[in-house]
Amino acid sequence: MTDSTPRVALVTGGSRGIGRATVRALARDGFHVAFCYRSDDTAARTLEKEGDDFGVTITGTRVDVADAAAVRAWIETTEQRLGALDAVVTAAGITRDNPLVLMDDDQWRQVIDTNLDGVYHVCRAAVFGMMKRRSGAVVNISSVAGVYGHATQANYSASKAGIIGFSRALAKETGRAGIRVNAVAPGFIDTDMVAEMNDKARKEAVAAIPLRRMGTAEEVADLVAYLVSDRAAYITGAVLQIDGGITI
Ligand code: NAP
Repeated sequence: MTDSTPRVALVTGGSRGIGRATVRALARDGFHVAFCYRSDDTAARTLEKEGDDFGVTITGTRVDVADAAAVRAWIETTEQRLGALDAVVTAAGITRDNPLVLMDDDQWRQVIDTNLDGVYHVCRAAVFGMMKRRSGAVVNISSVAGVYGHATQANYSASKAGIIGFSRALAKETGRAGIRVNAVAPGFIDTDMVAEMNDKARKEAVAAIPLRRMGTAEEVADLVAYLVSDRAAYITGAVLQIDGGITI
């Protein structure tokens, strides 16, 4: 397959932030894109219309990635409508921050169910077909919190560390079938997810970043678009940090 062949990509959490920027970047690169989201129908419909700008189909479906049956049905319908999946990007994610001693079971469960089980559900449903076709690329969005841990985010850090182990295991399982699986670990990226930070916390965060700014969703999306492209044909099992140097 060459980069000029029409291809099909699946993106979770595509209605906002990094997922939305990824939908746009993949559409720009010639993919038909199916994305899912949890609640924001208006954002989804607006994004779908952008497919016309790129001459591809962008289609959004309300699917909770924590719901295995809903994910399976969504992927089946997508493949019937757009064709077999060439690329899968799991960007759906949530935070429920609290110091561990104050964390309640719901905060733990919701984050693990969405961030980690969600990745399992999507890959479980999508990867077997890719293996049969002996081609495909998966990018799972982790976080620097999954590499180094982040105070008040034991739940989130555990889910994002889980994604790294999951991605590396899957890369080993599927490499000989021609599938590449990578994880991207962003630092602070200016999306709704970090919009809740107060001014003081934001200033402190930026001061700790050597490049002295937060990243943009588009910068992460460009890395994802590179990883699913043939230009990254020899990259698998990698955890690529995109963090302005905050972890140096
Ligand atoms: P965001 O702006 O809050 O957007 C999250 C997206 O995920 C939305 O489209 C949301 O849909 C969707 N979503 C949430 N729960 C879902 C569920 N259960 N099922 C399906 N879709 C769901 O987040 P973001 O900042 O772009 O983050 C994207 C990914 O990057 C996440 O995995 C996050 O952990 C990771 N990340 C972000 C940062 C950062 O600084 N922003 C840093 C490191 C890693 P609705 O709008 O419909 O709810």
